[in-house]
Amino acid sequence: MQELLKAGKITAEAREYAKSLIKEEVNVYDFVKKVEDKIFSLGGKLAFPVNISINEDAAHDTADYKGKDVFTRGQVVKVDIGAQVNGYVGDTAFTKEITTNNYKDLIKASEEALKEALKIIKPGIKLCEIGAVIESTIKKYGYNPIRNLGGHGVSKYNLHTGLFIPNYDNGSKAELKEDDTVAVEPFATTGHGMVFNKNIVKIFSLEKPKPTRVMSARKMQDYIIKEFNTLPFAEHHLKSSGKFSEAELRLGLRELVRSGILHSYHVLTEVSKGIVSQAEHTIIVNDDLTITTE
Ligand code: MN
Ligand code: MN
Repeated sequence: MQELLKAGKITAEAREYAKSLIKEEVNVYDFVKKVEDKIFSLGGKLAFPVNISINEDAAHDTADYKGKDVFTRGQVVKVDIGAQVNGYVGDTAFTKEITTNNYKDLIKASEEALKEALKIIKPGIKLCEIGAVIESTIKKYGYNPIRNLGGHGVSKYNLHTGLFIPNYDNGSKAELKEDDTVAVEPFATTGHGMVFNKNIVKIFSLEKPKPTRVMSARKMQDYIIKEFNTLPFAEHHLKSSGKFSEAELRLGLRELVRSGILHSYHVLTEVSKGIVSQAEHTIIVNDDLTITTE
């Protein structure tokens, strides 16, 4: 419990720090690095790489190692941050429109949907009831929830337990129970409200560890087990570690993906290229509701 609360607090502090840093012309890699370093400086580790997903991309994108990209005017940026303490996770996200104000209501829609969902969550609530509140709040603003993205249960070293919290009324009569730890994350979009996999992967996690005869892959697998356990990491973490040559990186990563040792997180993008906003908190379900990332 203490570690779960600590992880939440660190995640929240990193989020507030990220909010203070993000603006036009800021280099995206520098931004990611600073926010991740903040987590370390507060005594946490990464639960996953800081995700930076822009405009119609909803999730699972991040910076390239020493990339030259900067935030530019008009971008709608989802910043998703996760810290962990001994495997106990905090997961939180916010959306920032860079310089302009064209998507203020879209951003408000996901934030309000999160607020309204948290108001009704208590032990015994049905998942469909949470989804219904998120859906109706987002629709009130004239937007659509993303139906194939949602909240999730979290447990030790596990970012996504089987529990899925819908962003629409999916009819699920399953209930949350006392002391469940869950992340609630409404996504709102100007588009149809579905995402699909883009052919871009920058984030991975260990899925099925097993021996491999490719030396670079073996070395990389050992490093991943030690540094990240089963939690997601980014290509830029492998590069910035200084442990691998360019060739080892290319060969090792390819072999680990090919052999099914690593899971690939594709960048998720909205099917109709709708602009996407997201808000997220991690909570412990009890009568007073503990928002660990507040
Ligand atoms: Mn998240
Ligand atoms: Mn999440």
